[in-house]
Amino acid sequence: MKIIDNPVALQQELLTLKKKGKSIGFVPTMGNLHAGHLSLVQLIKKQSDIVVCSIFVNPAQFGENEDLASYPRTLSEDIQKLEALGIDYLFTPTDNQIYPHGKNKHSSVELNRLTEHLCGSSRPDHFKGVTTVVCILFNIVQPDVAAFGKKDYQQYQVIKAMTRDLMMPIKIIGGEIVRESNGLAMSSRNTYLSKAEKEKASTLRQTILSTAEQIKSGTSLEKTIENAINNLKRHGFKIDYFKVVRQNDLQEAQQTDKSLLIACAAWLGQPRLIDNLELNLN
Ligand code: AMP
Repeated sequence: MKIIDNPVALQQELLTLKKKGKSIGFVPTMGNLHAGHLSLVQLIKKQSDIVVCSIFVNPAQFGENEDLASYPRTLSEDIQKLEALGIDYLFTPTDNQIYPHGKNKHSSVELNRLTEHLCGSSRPDHFKGVTTVVCILFNIVQPDVAAFGKKDYQQYQVIKAMTRDLMMPIKIIGGEIVRESNGLAMSSRNTYLSKAEKEKASTLRQTILSTAEQIKSGTSLEKTIENAINNLKRHGFKIDYFKVVRQNDLQEAQQTDKSLLIACAAWLGQPRLIDNLELNLN
């Protein structure tokens, strides 16, 4: 595995490989790698000749009062995990290499739909930061295919929409959510949870599963959402949102919609946890 921090050097190497007919697969991450990230690498390995992974804690997607400074950084462990998977390139740029004039003076990419609600409501500039950095990374790597986890379902849809809107010839594939044994979706931010909180956090998954059962048995969406919010509050969660939306456009679902996403964000102690479930009714 080659580790490269210089964007132009990586771009040149990958362009040479592309000219030789090699397909490029890409997995962007912020590091602190866990089985969720590694599952995306495995997915991409099956779809491309050359596998590129990036580790960049993107300052532009963190809000003023968020955890940019304390975000877990574990580069040497991450390198070992990626070496073991046999990927070809790891890209580890610095902030200055991505935003030479600072993130606020840098040109940005913004989607005019899908980004205002759900996570966008409590994190106003988050998706602008995500689309900007992913666009920069795509221009450096020029992948044929890139993988994003469905744990961040809104991000996955936002990236798909960006590639469509901007005519980027990149196939976006979604990886299923990888979970801890108690059902908690794996996340770098789980390291902020105490042992007791980690156990309690499984309630999020259980509540979403119970919501799915209630919807299947015909309970109104309004009532199931109310039940879920009450249950999570009882277990000590502070709710950001608990919604049932349509999978494709993430707009609030009506009782007659069939392709649903149950999506939730809630704080348990310090970290804000997110989770979701795709529910397809026949
Ligand atoms: P991050 O490092 O948090 O930016 O995540 C990098 C990629 O890994 C994103 O596409 C995430 O959606 C994905 N990811 C993070 N956690 C999981 C998980 N538990 N299961 C599947 N994919 C995940």
